[in-house]
Amino acid sequence: MFSRLAALVLLATVLPAAAETPAKQLFGAVENPAPLAARSIGSYSRGCLAGAALLPVNGPTWQVMRLSRNRNWGNPVLVGFLEHLASKAPAVGWNGLLVGDLSQPRGGPMSSGHASHQIGLDADIWLTPMPKRELTYDERERVSAVSMLAPDKLTVDPKKFSQRQFNIIRLAAKQPEVERIFVNRAIKKALCEGAGSDRAWLSKVRPWWGHDFHFHVRMACPANSPTCKPQAAPPSGDGCGAELQSWYAPPPKPTKPSKPKPPAPEITLKDLPPECSQVLVAK
Ligand SMILES: [Zn+2]
Repeated sequence: MFSRLAALVLLATVLPAAAETPAKQLFGAVENPAPLAARSIGSYSRGCLAGAALLPVNGPTWQVMRLSRNRNWGNPVLVGFLEHLASKAPAVGWNGLLVGDLSQPRGGPMSSGHASHQIGLDADIWLTPMPKRELTYDERERVSAVSMLAPDKLTVDPKKFSQRQFNIIRLAAKQPEVERIFVNRAIKKALCEGAGSDRAWLSKVRPWWGHDFHFHVRMACPANSPTCKPQAAPPSGDGCGAELQSWYAPPPKPTKPSKPKPPAPEITLKDLPPECSQVLVAK
């Protein structure tokens, strides 16, 4: 491994040679945002971020976790949204929010953890409330998040997933600039069961694997980002019927012996929008 500084020099001088290097190594080596106009470039899982804003590690009603990862960067629209959501959290039963990963300083693929989070419009929020005191750097590295699931993993544990968790997910989903929220199927089920007659917001809350320790908020492409690639709108309806059931269906039996899948090829700069090469080296 070369040092981060060496990586930067290498990038700046012989960028074409970096064409085959996994993009996660290149973007992971840069510690500061690109000093360009703020914008999200490309799609949520194939893109990068210029002019990122920093979510401060401490706010009146939030604390950022896992500081060593340096992933508390986002489109200013995302950072503003998180500050706003955190300010509203006490009104729905939270002392404050623990915030997990946003994006790297210049976005892009990451060496661990996420396929998306590449353009500064995705954020993970812990389903564990913020304690009343400021956590130390070490605690923020080590404290484990808590799964909301019952041991059968089919439902939530009501001692962990309570009205408080319901409220914060609903509050986030009701913000017009939020496009999707990802939660475990058991959490979606609990939301479906608890929503009563106010159900329009449920269409944005999508089941996904994992997401039992945190929920994932995805912002729509903002006006500041003309080359941000939007996703199709989620299906209409609350998603509480057949769609939710499909997440509980047993996996289909293989008809022939399955061959092990080759690993997915690494994302390189040529897989990302051309603008991302400029974002990577901008000084
Ligand atoms: Zn996430």
